[in-house]
Amino acid sequence: MENKNHEELIKKAIEAAETEKECAQILETHFKRLHGRKPSKRERAIINADAARAVSVVCDKKTGYIFINTSGRPHPQTEEIHIELKRRMPEDSLDKNKRPVEYCAEFKACNKALHSRHDAKMEDLIVATVLVSDGSPKERCENCKRTTEGAIVLTD
Ligand SMILES: [Zn+2]
Repeated sequence: MENKNHEELIKKAIEAAETEKECAQILETHFKRLHGRKPSKRERAIINADAARAVSVVCDKKTGYIFINTSGRPHPQTEEIHIELKRRMPEDSLDKNKRPVEYCAEFKACNKALHSRHDAKMEDLIVATVLVSDGSPKERCENCKRTTEGAIVLTD
């Protein structure tokens, strides 16, 4: 039973990634219609930068509720970050590209899940994260390994 639920969670993450990818394709179609040509390499990079890099699906195993988030903007403002995550956030980003801690899909989805129930704990959360580009599992970055420590992570 447990394994089946885990599989379903990963499937949900892959579906969400496909939807996100379609959004980028729609943007490219709009570009073609607007300019009467294909976007250049540089323009395509801008279009793709608007689409998220990763999608995270978090399940609260006590309630069964699902929370889905993409990486990047919009990210939670300081006052919107759950106290448990805030307490764990490193002062400087541990990521090699110095991506802000609160930009990660896992961080954003766990933030939503923790806020949804007054006694929710990180240990109650199951996390699955995939890349938008091909739906492959995405390992947590160094920031998320710290901020979501204790959660069950299916894609590390
Ligand atoms: Zn991360």
